[in-house]
Amino acid sequence: MISSAGFVELVGAGPGDPGLITVRGRAALQQAEVLIYDQLVHPSLLELVPSSAERIFAGKRAGRLVYNQDQINSLLVEKARLGKRVVRLKGGDPLVFGRGAEEAAFLRMQGIPYRIIPGVTAAVGVSGYTELPITHRGAASAVALVTGHDDPRQPGGRVDWPALAKFPGTIVVYMGVAHLKEICDVLMHAGMSPSTPAALVERGTWPSQRSVSGTLANLPDQAALHHLHPPALLIIGSVVNLRPDRSWFESLPLFGQRILVTRPAEDSLASAEQLEALGAEVHHAPTVQIQPLEDFRPLDQVLARIKSFDWLVFTSRHGVDAFMGRLFERGQDVRALGHLQLATIGPGTADQLKRWHLRADLVPDQFLSEGLADALKPRVQGKRVLLARANRGRTVLRDELEPLAQVEQVAVYRNFDAPELPPAVMQALEAGEIDWITLTSSAITERLAALLTPRARARIGQETKLVSISPITTEAAHKQGMPVAAEASEYTWNGVVRAVCEAVGRQASSR
Ligand code: SAH
Repeated sequence: MISSAGFVELVGAGPGDPGLITVRGRAALQQAEVLIYDQLVHPSLLELVPSSAERIFAGKRAGRLVYNQDQINSLLVEKARLGKRVVRLKGGDPLVFGRGAEEAAFLRMQGIPYRIIPGVTAAVGVSGYTELPITHRGAASAVALVTGHDDPRQPGGRVDWPALAKFPGTIVVYMGVAHLKEICDVLMHAGMSPSTPAALVERGTWPSQRSVSGTLANLPDQAALHHLHPPALLIIGSVVNLRPDRSWFESLPLFGQRILVTRPAEDSLASAEQLEALGAEVHHAPTVQIQPLEDFRPLDQVLARIKSFDWLVFTSRHGVDAFMGRLFERGQDVRALGHLQLATIGPGTADQLKRWHLRADLVPDQFLSEGLADALKPRVQGKRVLLARANRGRTVLRDELEPLAQVEQVAVYRNFDAPELPPAVMQALEAGEIDWITLTSSAITERLAALLTPRARARIGQETKLVSISPITTEAAHKQGMPVAAEASEYTWNGVVRAVCEAVGRQASSR
């Protein structure tokens, strides 16, 4: 496989939850030069691909395939012949109702090297995330994976339903929603008891996972009643009864909550992982973006006379990285800071300093500029204080310290406003399909307010709730006429997450 010629990896993405891709599948994505992917693949898996890679969507758009199978086969060969590392990413496992074998056969015929990286197929993912065991010592010793794509009433179908009606185990039907009623009917007609337990699970392993259980006789009505849609799996057999009312996954504190993270892209990925681990569905809309300085001269001048300062103050993680990054770029290192006292606005910023092998001498109890100013005041009398910060923002620190100390501000990175929200996010907001929006600074809050369309705005305080990091940010939201439903008691990102968990817990217990 190690060759300068191109090759193709057929990778199973798993059923939804991006954490269910294999280690090898993830490595393939991280090295991809061309990615050809289907729908049903979690967007954050696409983020693993280098930004330089070409991405080709090969799923359905408006109900129609963008490429047919022959075109996909040719595309794989064409890209590999250009010497590229091609990843063909498919939902679930590539060889379970995934046409991976056809692609592999074509590649073999064309002499293109390839390998297949299996994935967690939907049946297995759904089983784990609903706790509906597809085998069980007491209930089922065999499993059949079946396609429900074709109408079972049509003659010459690929599935022998009458034979399946006698299958001694669990039947898992993929692509069976459109013909759900016909499938249940044909099985009962062939002698399966109408009281056989059956379940339909929509979007298993996604935060939007939903399901209904019943019997062969009543499941189609149940599914229609609850508006279940593809992708969904039909599971038939007595194992359905072994399932708890709510699985471990459905019991996560933020299960099903749709949360919009408005932090800069740099923070947003780690935030998303944390929220997803708690069961939330995360959407991203950085409202303020972060960029390196255009002109490093003022910072360089400060760094050249860093010896003349007594205190160095950081108010964000980005500030730490930008400052330290420039210090190293100039050929200096941490020894240049040995004489300084270091202060950070909160524990996150202090952690970032640690990564540069520096320890903060002061972290206030209240993680706000006001709190930091109060903590610094008794210690900086007559001292020379350097504030490393963004090119804009609140000036509380400088204003508060200036009467006591010699204060200098230097911009170490730039904040700028996102020109718009991603269209998909705006649509979700307008449709009331976002439950929470995180507000982690006044600047972010103001920018969000400016970007919302009137329809999206009308949802705030209704379907969509705001969670704020601190009283200052809450005030910024109120100034924009937006009500805040929850406020962090510790003014950090973790505090925001906790506030949402508590609010959701209260809602659940009051229901
Ligand atoms: N190769 C895939 C299956 C592709 S066929 C795999 O191994 O899982 C597409 C069908 O898979 C859908 O119609 C649905 O029946 C099922 N499916 C895929 N993802 C699913 C999910 N997250 N929850 C429930 N069913 C899913």
